[in-house]
Amino acid sequence: MKAVLDHVGIAVRNIEAALAFYRDALGLEIEAPEYVASQHVRARTIPTGPSSLELLEATGPDSPIARYLEKRGPGIHHVTLRVDNVHAALDHLRELGVRLVDEQPRPGVGGSLVAFVHPSASHGALVELKQAAPSRTTLLAQRIGLGGFELTSLHDGLFRLDGGAMFGVVPRPLWEVKATPDDRNRICLAMRPLLVQADWGRMIIDCGIGDKLDAKALDIYGCDRTRHLDHALGEVGVGADEIDVVLATHLHFDHFGGATKRVGERLVPRFSRARYLIRSDEWEDATHPHERNRASYLEDDFVPLEAAGVVDFREADGEVRPGIRTVRTGGHCAQHQIVFIESGGHTAVFTADLIPTTAHLRDAWIMGYDLFPMETLAFKKRFIREAIEREYLIFFEHDPVVAAGYIRQANGRRYVEQVL
Ligand SMILES: [Zn+2]
Ligand SMILES: [Zn+2]
Repeated sequence: MKAVLDHVGIAVRNIEAALAFYRDALGLEIEAPEYVASQHVRARTIPTGPSSLELLEATGPDSPIARYLEKRGPGIHHVTLRVDNVHAALDHLRELGVRLVDEQPRPGVGGSLVAFVHPSASHGALVELKQAAPSRTTLLAQRIGLGGFELTSLHDGLFRLDGGAMFGVVPRPLWEVKATPDDRNRICLAMRPLLVQADWGRMIIDCGIGDKLDAKALDIYGCDRTRHLDHALGEVGVGADEIDVVLATHLHFDHFGGATKRVGERLVPRFSRARYLIRSDEWEDATHPHERNRASYLEDDFVPLEAAGVVDFREADGEVRPGIRTVRTGGHCAQHQIVFIESGGHTAVFTADLIPTTAHLRDAWIMGYDLFPMETLAFKKRFIREAIEREYLIFFEHDPVVAAGYIRQANGRRYVEQVL
């Protein structure tokens, strides 16, 4: 078994007080706070090279940290070893008769899976085994040619949404094997805008969540933008000011939050020389939200664009630039659209929230967020059959692992042949 030191957990009475040493005196950087609700623990991770320190504070008397502090006082609580597959590691140890605290792994900080080995087996140290969540290291700008286009799957970091809401009517026992929920029932998702480079210029399709969310929203959505869209563009050597066209699939904040940025008190277009292509009816919906979609449309993401005079409103489906065509799907929201990219006899499709991840290939696996799920179903049924038959290269905007691939079907089962 390969195991590397992931972190050392330190039980403290008060994290803020402990930061006076770790952050202020040692000058270390501290990551955003995390909660493990099931354990009544608040944690702050302090990166120290390939491994880290984790400060742990109890949030209630039932917390194992509270019990530890009572018995032994503050100090080193556990040592965590990272393994590739925690299920396999537990099977292996069990076979050798090693005593375990956790027979089954459970959700840990940041979407990881963890299990404790009994201290009697590990000579007095509490050893935690951890299988990391799909990490930001999997988020890299990745290029592929398509006819005369160069397509680059970008990224704007990771975020988390409620697993139940992501799979609609599908029961958790079915979806949790495809997307492991954390202790707050959230699953890890990516944001992957697509860069199209053509002889007519550079287009970006959707632009991530951006950096305008407040602390409460960042916590609710578990945003991890340690590496974000600027890094991704940097990886391909393109500046935000070199984008000519921004195309919106729809104006939800996780797709279009990156359209504007704050400069002092003002909100300005993030892509300074770009034209922004937006469906006029989507603009209408986004600027007149109702109780059911209000949380998804944040006016700071799009209203400043109109004031800056950079929006080109589109009335209907059609070609927006040579080889780039939008098709309205409805379903997710009334004006949700996907983007067909066609060149040299090849077709790629940016499916946005129609097929947000590779776990959404089945017809009925439709997000609970969708305003018109029956419309999603009708479009999706038709589209996926067409995509399989015509071998469309599909870009999955929210998949944390697979950026693009071909949908295949064998023995009645659909799967994705990963390309990026
Ligand atoms: Zn959406
Ligand atoms: Zn989305």
